[in-house]
Amino acid sequence: MSAHTESRFDAGIYGKRLERAAELTRAAHLDALLITPGPDLRYLLGSSAQSFERLTCLVVPASGETPSVVVPQLELASLADSAAGELGIHLVPWVDGVDPYGVVKSTLNAGARVAVDDAMPALHLLPIADALTALPVSATPILRRIRMIKDGAEIDALRRAGAAIDRVHARMGEWLRAGRTEAEVAADIKAAIVAEGHEYPDFVIVGSGPNGADPHHAESERVIESGDVVVVDIGGPVAPGYFSDSTRTYAVGEPAPEIAEAYAALERAQAAAVAAVRPGVTAESVDAAARDLLSEAGFGAAFIHRTGHGIGLSVHEEPYIVAGNGSVLEAGMAFSIEPGIYFRGEWGARIEDIVIVTEDGGEAVNRRPHALVVL
Ligand code: ZN
Ligand code: ZN
Ligand code: ZN
Repeated sequence: MSAHTESRFDAGIYGKRLERAAELTRAAHLDALLITPGPDLRYLLGSSAQSFERLTCLVVPASGETPSVVVPQLELASLADSAAGELGIHLVPWVDGVDPYGVVKSTLNAGARVAVDDAMPALHLLPIADALTALPVSATPILRRIRMIKDGAEIDALRRAGAAIDRVHARMGEWLRAGRTEAEVAADIKAAIVAEGHEYPDFVIVGSGPNGADPHHAESERVIESGDVVVVDIGGPVAPGYFSDSTRTYAVGEPAPEIAEAYAALERAQAAAVAAVRPGVTAESVDAAARDLLSEAGFGAAFIHRTGHGIGLSVHEEPYIVAGNGSVLEAGMAFSIEPGIYFRGEWGARIEDIVIVTEDGGEAVNRRPHALVVL
């Protein structure tokens, strides 16, 4: 595979996504989708343009007519790196001094009912709402439906992201040892995340000793000690923008027997949840598979968060693997399985893989061993 096809999808893929988005917009009895820069724009157009005070907005007519992008004249170049040109999307440039919301309105029929992306800044949403007769609604119910089911190219992108973050975990012994601070270890990990093929390190959690008991601890000046258990949860986007996210737990020196015992229960819980993944089961049943096992082992109270989150062009997206989510899993969905156990003031542990729902089960894109890695 050439570097070009690894970093970008074919224009044909974006054409199909735009068609499907138009279809679902029509089915929802709306007239158009309005999408500003963010993960939804990257999904529909391959553009990683950023959101600024000057409005950039993709307009997808429900009728199936060719979409337009209303774009500031001086940002036109930002759309060069997208499928817009190849798809013949209408570019509608506007210059400073013109009302861009009026320009958006001019691309729509009078009285049009629109759906907007849920990351649209209020800075743009309020004047758009003001320019239209009907109040905009959220495009998320439409886009969630298509973004949740990954196509072959997206699954390949998630596999590449998984392999890239596995290579970083494989090198942990180079950096993680007693006498270094969490921040020093995190700096080395960040450099390796980029060296192993990510666009940038999006998050790096190095939670040593008691800091491991805080699931969203990032890093600190704490000096890692012999005997510490260290939670390392890392990830970032790999071109064309799909995220890696993987946690492994390390022990600096042989762990105490009670730590090894609790960790063994966590390992069984994570494996049980992965084994529960298949089309036709609910998201909450996968959460329950991990939770029931930890509860039976006496660690139910130590598992203080949901089992997982969907992943793709966003680190956290649908489907959420959580109690109360009765959504039925389908082939092509991708999400994390990341049970953890946390003992306040003492230590914590988490094991996280990204899993793709296949026709008959689940495929983990992360392949590093799950056992507590003793360094
Ligand atoms: Zn999180
Ligand atoms: Zn994570
Ligand atoms: Zn995660």
